Amino acid sequence: MSLLVPNVRVPRRSLPVAPTAPDPRSVRVSVTDRCDFACTYCRPSRHDGYADARLTTAAWKTMFEGLRRAGLRRVRLTGGEPLLHPEIVDIVAYLASLGFEDLSLTTNASQLAALARPLKDAGLERVNVSIDTLDEGRFRAITRGGELAIVQRGIDAALRANLSPVKLNTVVLRGVNDDELERITRWAWERRMVPRFLEVMPIAEGAKLVAEHLVTAAEMKAKLAPLIATEEGAIEAGKGPAKYVHARHDASLRVGFITGTSDTFCSSCDRLRVSSTGVLRPCLATDDGVPAADAARSGDTESIAARIAEAWALKPDGEVWKGCTEETAASLSMRAIGG
Ligand code: SAM
Repeated sequence: MSLLVPNVRVPRRSLPVAPTAPDPRSVRVSVTDRCDFACTYCRPSRHDGYADARLTTAAWKTMFEGLRRAGLRRVRLTGGEPLLHPEIVDIVAYLASLGFEDLSLTTNASQLAALARPLKDAGLERVNVSIDTLDEGRFRAITRGGELAIVQRGIDAALRANLSPVKLNTVVLRGVNDDELERITRWAWERRMVPRFLEVMPIAEGAKLVAEHLVTAAEMKAKLAPLIATEEGAIEAGKGPAKYVHARHDASLRVGFITGTSDTFCSSCDRLRVSSTGVLRPCLATDDGVPAADAARSGDTESIAARIAEAWALKPDGEVWKGCTEETAASLSMRAIGG
């Protein structure tokens, strides 16, 4: 019997597919493609349009049941800006009730001051907050209008609510914020947070910035040499591709580096994605995927689990084919697929 379901999107070109990809263990879900920021490396403007085909919260719940049934263990909510979803607390509570091993969320923190405590009470364990600079003017320019003070209040609220650990994501851009690595690291460590520095990836708007603005993780480490131990860095098992290095003066403090461009770490990727329109995607950097919104809307968890297997079979190999550095990535929408 064919495993194909109606509306399966067939890969547009034949990619080398992973013969022995690890099973999907973790999933990133873009619960909305809406965002109140338009970071220069992500979107061309605040008015670049949103998808119509949203899922209701009831449909999302079916989707989550399907993910659980298929054996997914770790969920990260993202977007877009997940905290703009009007029912985000209800969504988190439902996910927590399904018993995933790890439940986390990536946010720009613009709404976190009000939501940190309700999210924690609903069962959220930890958050990653994106913050690219500690300078108000730069912050406004990078995010196209974001207010740094509001984000900092959100971070304070997350710390007070014990959403632990709070990890920071800083995309480092040459000539934009690459003089702030030490300042951000010290600021994070003073609050017992984990700063993480990301290479800009040539995905979506980032593709226009890499040639001029990419700072590699090796360069970032060199800039932070006075603060960090001389060690290669180690991943946290099952918690993504960041490699963490300890502080020189205090082994309980760490800083992470994410090499999305200089080393795409695709071959060990166990991550599935669900786009804001309910498409199961095996990879951030291809346009391949298996639509599952219809199954989610009709409450068919079994079909979702079957489609996850189909989507995973489309996963590129990550050895010959190198993720976000491939030219397919430039035309994709990070916020719809879920960054
Ligand atoms: N709105 C949330 C936020 O701001 O964290 C979640 C979505 S955002 C797309 C998720 C992460 O992707 C952010 O940390 C952002 O900095 C990162 N990101 C977006 N485009 C990127 C690019 N081209 N290269 C590297 N990181 C990128």
